[in-house]
Amino acid sequence: MMERQKVWVPDPVEGFVLGTIHDIGHNGEATIFTTDSKHSKLTYNLERVYYAEQHDKADVEDNCALMYLNPATLLSNIRTRYKKDKIYTFVANILIAVNPYCEIKDLYSSKTIKSYQGKSLGVLPPHVFSIADKSFRDMKVMKQSQSIIVSGESGAGKTESTKYLLRYLCELWGTTAGPIEQKILDANPVMEAFGNAKTTRNNNSSRFGKFIEVHFDSRCQVVGGFISHYLLEKSRICRQSEHERNYHVFYLLCAGAPDKLREQLSITKPDDFHYLNSGCTQYFTTSVSEKKLNNSQKSQSHLMKGGLRDTMLDDIEDFTNMDNALGRLGLSDAERLNIYTMVASVLHLGNVAFEDNPEDTKGGCQVCGSSEKSLSIAAKLMGVDPGELRQALVSRVMQSSRGGLKGTVIMVPLKVYEANNARDALAKALYSNLFDYIVQRINKSIPFKASSYYIGVLDIAGFEYFTVNSFEQFCINYCNEKLQQFFNERILKDEQDLYQREALQVPKIEFRDNQDCIDLIESKGTGIFAILDEESKLPKPSAEHFTMEVHQKWAGHFRLALPRTSRLKAHRDTRDNEGFMIRHFAGAVCYRTGQFIEKNNDALHASLEGLIQESRNPFLQVLFASSSNMSQQKGKLTFSSVGSKFRTQLGELMDKLKSTGTNFIRCIKPNQKMVDHQFEGGSILSQLECSGMTSVMELMQNGFPSRVPFADLYNMYHKYLPPRLAKLEPRVFCKALLKALGMTENEYRFGVTKVFFRPGKFVEFDSIMKSD
Ligand code: ATP
Ligand code: MG
Repeated sequence: MMERQKVWVPDPVEGFVLGTIHDIGHNGEATIFTTDSKHSKLTYNLERVYYAEQHDKADVEDNCALMYLNPATLLSNIRTRYKKDKIYTFVANILIAVNPYCEIKDLYSSKTIKSYQGKSLGVLPPHVFSIADKSFRDMKVMKQSQSIIVSGESGAGKTESTKYLLRYLCELWGTTAGPIEQKILDANPVMEAFGNAKTTRNNNSSRFGKFIEVHFDSRCQVVGGFISHYLLEKSRICRQSEHERNYHVFYLLCAGAPDKLREQLSITKPDDFHYLNSGCTQYFTTSVSEKKLNNSQKSQSHLMKGGLRDTMLDDIEDFTNMDNALGRLGLSDAERLNIYTMVASVLHLGNVAFEDNPEDTKGGCQVCGSSEKSLSIAAKLMGVDPGELRQALVSRVMQSSRGGLKGTVIMVPLKVYEANNARDALAKALYSNLFDYIVQRINKSIPFKASSYYIGVLDIAGFEYFTVNSFEQFCINYCNEKLQQFFNERILKDEQDLYQREALQVPKIEFRDNQDCIDLIESKGTGIFAILDEESKLPKPSAEHFTMEVHQKWAGHFRLALPRTSRLKAHRDTRDNEGFMIRHFAGAVCYRTGQFIEKNNDALHASLEGLIQESRNPFLQVLFASSSNMSQQKGKLTFSSVGSKFRTQLGELMDKLKSTGTNFIRCIKPNQKMVDHQFEGGSILSQLECSGMTSVMELMQNGFPSRVPFADLYNMYHKYLPPRLAKLEPRVFCKALLKALGMTENEYRFGVTKVFFRPGKFVEFDSIMKSD
């Protein structure tokens, strides 16, 4: 009996499940029985099912070698390989990397690094090292800088992959890293301490994006490095969601700093600090300053982290790692003390609380008696007078606009919530300027001479879609639209251009261009960023007015819609009930615009700016040197647009990327529990869709995904053939060979320099040749 055709049918949990077709109705509805133990009977239109490979237990290193190229076979191949601990897979030159959440023996050893050196893609199993080596070889051969774009959702393994890539590039000759290479590697523990945090999605989540360049001289030796960073998440400095932490460095200081330093900075345990005890309090019931934990405490803390890295113990060790790395980067004891002093200032500032001032008839506030001590410590660390700090937090200087008083500077008392905001704004400015400074300082310490080319690695958050989405998601999704467009241009367009260059008659494959979505966000004057900036400059900016402007300016645009009110109602609070929905390439996202205006503004109010200018702490002056040179109009709230800055930075990054040869790594998070050996097909499929991988498969299915230069084909096979044929010139040889095997023009095409094969046909050809 003929075997029934195996197909993949959609399944919300698994992504796809296998079945066999039993019947097809006249309207294209197929009756399918699943092949699992349940043998469920399903009815699907044929358009929604995909042909399955005959041997579904076999796997291929490059998905383009599959017989059928579609989302289901892609997912199935990745699943089969993942089960065998083969976490890497190619789709042509794009690497898919599934986070194993466990150590795989020898996967990244120095021996493995050596084995990948100088090997073309496809010679050894897929690996991040294949991509690192390809970039290096392309740089050398084409004399052009290269970039590697690593993307994926939170916890997918971008930062770990980036570290392996950097290690490969810095240990290229199998030697231990030299002094410059060591500095590039040392940047990581420092940046992670200040820019990473524990979240519910990842215990070591990067809350900023980065582009790390490794520079080479004309002989391809490492001669320098440069780091650019994007969009540090500022809200985390003052508040964290449940079960999340603030930036690692705060805990490192509490747990790992030497006693003398902790005393000097009046640092105690995380529980004592308001900015640290709102998210993850349960982790700090034990005094983390006690370094000698007994075994039961150790195992308990392991349990609390779900078996992953231990926060409490790492905090101690990580302080030393970070401090040593800063030292190797050339920061003196005094410079490091400056940095830690700022970190401590943020913590003490956070402990300053306010209450209504009963003597103020206008509803002003005062510092609570219980936080006087924190106020004076913060003032001391920041080098300001405690009285002035108090004044700057509870009042604001304004210019009077009334009659004869016009232009006079007056002090306006702040209400409790306003003072809280002022304190938080100051803390955020301190910390984010410190972060900028640290990156700058690292760049200064890595030499930069004689650079001819570079290889840049981009580690930036992928497309985000949460229950509630705000300005941060808006920025990151905008960034992903730009990167997706670039990806489309490079992959899909390059592919079609290649067919054209090789004079292959292949129908043009369409992909949806997302320029319209990018325009909606970034157009000069009318884009959402521009509307937001305009709103911020109004005397009384409001979220409602901003949102209305967006809807009015872009009424009827395909990419923009009003959010469904039901969705908004579920999370409604008094301030956050306005918004819009954007149809991104990866799906529609509703944005709540309630906090867009304040999150888009980096400027401190004038009293706080004034306070900093008066500071006797020279380091504080340095931190604010670049941001406070904007023309300060006394008494006016200045405006510094986060969105415009990001748009400019991203524009520069895109220019850089466009001028380099590019490779892509798509990281995949296998499950939400962050455990090993668990493959959640449904969510993985959606990640493959969001990263554009399913469209690449579609493109390849309709095209000629395996291609071999005539000369290579000749070299590979002439030994299997009679000398008469082997004498032919490679192009004629290939023609004769394929004809002799009875392959038809539907299965392959001749280009100008290469033979192109339809999906699966090259593998078939190869196996016939080798079995003969
Ligand atoms: P985020 O966007 O939140 O920064 P990310 O994509 O950078 O996320 P990583 O921090 O790189 O994610 O990875 C999360 C965790 O997954 C790591 O801390 C590590 O435990 C594990 N992990 C990632 N990649 C690997 C790997 N190749 N081998 C073993 N474990 C890994
Ligand atoms: Mg990361």
